[in-house]
Amino acid sequence: MFRTHTCGELRLSDVGKEIILSGWVQRTRDKGSLLWIDLRDRYGITQLMLEEGVSQQHLLEKARQLGREYVIRVKGRVTERSSKNPNIPTGEIEIMLDEIELLNASKLPPFTIEDKTDGGDELRMKYRYLDLRRNPLKQNLALRHKLALETRNYLDSKGFYEIETPYLIKSTPEGARDFVVPSRMNPGEFYALPQSPQTFKQILMVAGYDRYFQIVRCFRDEDLRADRQPEFTQIDCEMAFVTQEDVINTFEGMAHFLFEKVKGVDVGRFERMDYATAMKLYGSDKPDIRFGMQFVEMKDLVKNKGFGLFDEAEIIVGINAAGCSEYTRKQLDALTEFVKKPQIGAKGLVYVKYNADGTFKSSVDKYFNEAELKVWANRFDARPGDLMLLLSGNTENTRKQLSELRLEIGNQLGLRDPQMFKPLWVTDFPLLEWDETSQRFYAMHHPFTSPKPEDFHLLESDPGKVRANAYDMVINGVEVGGGSIRIHDRDLQKKMFSLLGFTDEEAQNQFGFLMNAFEFGAPPHGGIALGFDRLTALIAGYDSIRDFIAFPKNNSGRDVMIDSPSIIAQQQLDELFLKVNMPQK
Ligand code: ASP
Repeated sequence: MFRTHTCGELRLSDVGKEIILSGWVQRTRDKGSLLWIDLRDRYGITQLMLEEGVSQQHLLEKARQLGREYVIRVKGRVTERSSKNPNIPTGEIEIMLDEIELLNASKLPPFTIEDKTDGGDELRMKYRYLDLRRNPLKQNLALRHKLALETRNYLDSKGFYEIETPYLIKSTPEGARDFVVPSRMNPGEFYALPQSPQTFKQILMVAGYDRYFQIVRCFRDEDLRADRQPEFTQIDCEMAFVTQEDVINTFEGMAHFLFEKVKGVDVGRFERMDYATAMKLYGSDKPDIRFGMQFVEMKDLVKNKGFGLFDEAEIIVGINAAGCSEYTRKQLDALTEFVKKPQIGAKGLVYVKYNADGTFKSSVDKYFNEAELKVWANRFDARPGDLMLLLSGNTENTRKQLSELRLEIGNQLGLRDPQMFKPLWVTDFPLLEWDETSQRFYAMHHPFTSPKPEDFHLLESDPGKVRANAYDMVINGVEVGGGSIRIHDRDLQKKMFSLLGFTDEEAQNQFGFLMNAFEFGAPPHGGIALGFDRLTALIAGYDSIRDFIAFPKNNSGRDVMIDSPSIIAQQQLDELFLKVNMPQK
């Protein structure tokens, strides 16, 4: 028998029991007359002990040979510790050893297996199995497991079926590039890995399975921005005979259920905001509403006063940083540097200090007098002691830049508590997005999203103005998921493809199967997908998803543990009729 208990289990009430434990040696402390071993497994750490003169000599000698991460099986008796450790659940007991069996030795690990490790990112990824032995990672994967389980429980209770859809499919453009897999049996032809099961879940609706879900891997070959993974997991769902309200209510309910079950937190009612409002008030389609600091537009007050930057601008917009009038020159310079970073790209930052004594000090004192700045302050709802920060330029970029600044100030003022959750639905997204470079429209969500019936008439005349029946779930400024009511009519779907620049033939080639299905009694339907990795990280209060995935890829899309991607043998290439043209270095 390998064990009677786990290393996290024994308590004072077990004193006197003969037990067997198996696990890894976290560390040994040898005081000469006394020797302790911390034995670790998934469940915790138990202290083992040997005493010169009491324990058998050969056991002491054996224990002295044990290195870190050796795997052992021990037998002994539970005793009360004389000096207790209140920091661990097993801290009141220790095991007086009678037997030590070495199950396997270990090389010296390249980093410490502690809550705070000295291992850098690459090293931890290369030896992920060692990294995964650490508590923080264990807790993350436990949370992930629990979340998956409760997701299934909730959706099952609402009548959803979990149905698997294939991984070897045909390209489904959802904005990213596909990963492709060559087909040996069909030379020259390729499968694509799904960016999401979108078309399959819609076809399941046509098939009559009116509530589907799947916790499913999706693959997107994107240039890796920070914290994106080329393969990631979604809670993917679809429902038939539903309105947008039905979908929203079902998944707001799921979010409530999950936060309650795994975190014991009531996230409260979700706010609702349409896309246009989100952009106007927060400059973002995923606003962090844990704090206010809404945008204030200033154009009518500041134009034509001789200040060039404002006079040329399409929009002049600002935020009020409450209580920040005492910011030093250095702090203001740092904020200016922040907005001028190439990733943000603002030309400059205008500030107005509303001093505690009611006077003003601004970077535009030359152009605006106290009386005018007082009017600004009223517009901003600013009080003495506040700091107003303004950006100007073209509407889209300026709003984005101010959104970044708002988040930065929010961070600086400690307004973004990761343990506080403020959920929100953003609705009424534009159906289409104009791309300057390629001079064409793209679907903002995906090509299967239906336009709002009240905007149908704009489809021909002003497609950019058409709003979609699309919605995003946003929590704390994180886009947790998104979905839409779909097109279920063949002609409308065809029209949509043509708006997106597909010829009839291309549309038929790529999506004929879906449009054909729509001719056989497609019910009205809609759905949503939530990012499962991201949701898990968010619930835990983390920004990065990396440590909520057991085996993630690094920033260049590599798995450094198994060293992938890698070259394949010539024979494999031949079987697939592939020839590799290496790029010229
Ligand atoms: N397939 C969509 C996505 O992956 C979600 C949806 O529309 O249901 O973002």
